[in-house]
Amino acid sequence: MNKLVTAVVMLCAVHAPVWAHDPQTPSSIEHIPLERISPHIYVVQGTQDLPNPVSRGFMNNPAAILTDNGVIIVDPGSSAEIGKELLKKVRALSDKPVVAVFNTHVHGDHWLGNQGIRELYPEVPIYAHERMIERVNTGEGAVWIKQFMEMTGNAIEGTRVVGPNVGLSGGEVLTLDGLTLRIHHTGRAHTDHDLMIEVVDDAGLFFGDIIAARRVPNSDVPQDASFKGSITAIRTLLEGPSTLFIPGHGQSGGRELPEASLRFLEKLRAAVTKYYEQGLADYEMKEQVSAELAEFRDWHNFDELGKVISYVYQEIEAENF
Ligand SMILES: [Zn+2]
Ligand SMILES: [Zn+2]
Repeated sequence: MNKLVTAVVMLCAVHAPVWAHDPQTPSSIEHIPLERISPHIYVVQGTQDLPNPVSRGFMNNPAAILTDNGVIIVDPGSSAEIGKELLKKVRALSDKPVVAVFNTHVHGDHWLGNQGIRELYPEVPIYAHERMIERVNTGEGAVWIKQFMEMTGNAIEGTRVVGPNVGLSGGEVLTLDGLTLRIHHTGRAHTDHDLMIEVVDDAGLFFGDIIAARRVPNSDVPQDASFKGSITAIRTLLEGPSTLFIPGHGQSGGRELPEASLRFLEKLRAAVTKYYEQGLADYEMKEQVSAELAEFRDWHNFDELGKVISYVYQEIEAENF
């Protein structure tokens, strides 16, 4: 089966542009363009498949913010090679130096590409929540590298842990080359250290994995998440001035994106709470909860709903303890 998929993808590669934007198709970063989505923001809108040999591990939305004198990178992907490929695409648009890198959270698909940037810019500051720095320093980077080596058939070979070195905690306002970045953290949401980055001049917001377009929120690493906290984060940021939203996965868009993730999370919590109060165990409520979330049936990872329900169930149980 894998061989067949590989063969089909290789055939398609000849006509790459035809499927370059199809988020269903596994693809490595070279096949997807760096697209301008606002005056300063450019994004490689990645595929939704988990890291695999065909994608060479690529699955997030690496981005560049271009200013007059420099380039700011957000979440440079899951390997050194992906970080370098991102820079290659940036170079086609700007010859200005990379002045800052931001990591939204510790999940490996978002930041293992730091190495590809640091190799060319050894002094560049890499910003992240201070708790992410702690988690990387206590060994989480090595765990992600091992996992992605296995998932990709060693396609991320040579990638080393290059963690962030400038800690933030949310609430900071940074001015970088005339551009204002407002940093947000509303408590535990997708992880205990998510950073959301607001590009004030463009009314744009990098949401990290707190939202994903057409993907079940927190379905990949639910053990890190607070579903209730994710609701708080989305509600809070929807009250802000941003009108353009860059999710951790899937296509960027307007308010409809965070609104859809919020609706999913609110319906999910309400349904699990209802059946919890009726005395059902998590494994007994899967069918009813799925039925109540039927409008999201075609989202990525909807088939992981059973796993997600059990984490929401534990959260509700702890709140009622
Ligand atoms: Zn994540
Ligand atoms: Zn992710």
